[in-house]
Amino acid sequence: MRINEIFYSLQGEGRFTGVPAVFVRLAGCNLRCPFCDTDFTSFTEMSEEDIVREVNGYPARHVVLTGGEPTLQLTDTLVARLHEAGCFVQMETNGTHPVPSGIDWVTCSPKAGGRVVLKRVHEVKMLYQGEGTDLTDAEGIEAEEYRLQPLDTGDPVRNEEITKATIQYILEHPQWKLSLQTHKILNVR
Ligand code: SF4
Repeated sequence: MRINEIFYSLQGEGRFTGVPAVFVRLAGCNLRCPFCDTDFTSFTEMSEEDIVREVNGYPARHVVLTGGEPTLQLTDTLVARLHEAGCFVQMETNGTHPVPSGIDWVTCSPKAGGRVVLKRVHEVKMLYQGEGTDLTDAEGIEAEEYRLQPLDTGDPVRNEEITKATIQYILEHPQWKLSLQTHKILNVR
């Protein structure tokens, strides 16, 4: 598998915010979002055994499979091996491909230009950028939680406006909960 990086930090977003987790970032994505901060160019080829061995080098048993788009490479066997190692397996996906079986928590974050095929996940996370944001992708997905996350534009003034607009939208549409990129606020990875 092509792996961008494996690192240990706190989960910054969504339901498991604050949980210590091993992040396995799989290289490559089928979309090209303008705000994407993932490096698509560098990766290391790793076997499933290598990945599990490296995960086992960290004390936490919460693993986040992320990308890129992890469904392009993920296998049922890697998920099973992580379970055998005692891990809770969370995955973050743009929802455009089926997910392997046995994932403990699927966070689906649909993006413009990607046709979502997932119908049932644990958590939907949508980026909000103010009035007019298209949230229709979320309507066709059944989930336990729906989270709205202010888009990070890189401009602090605009970000503050977007955060206020996100809070206002959630207050008016209480099926949504707020998701913040707390790792950026705390300046951790
Ligand atoms: S779906 Fe995610 S990883 Fe892929 S281009 Fe968009 S932001 Fe980047």
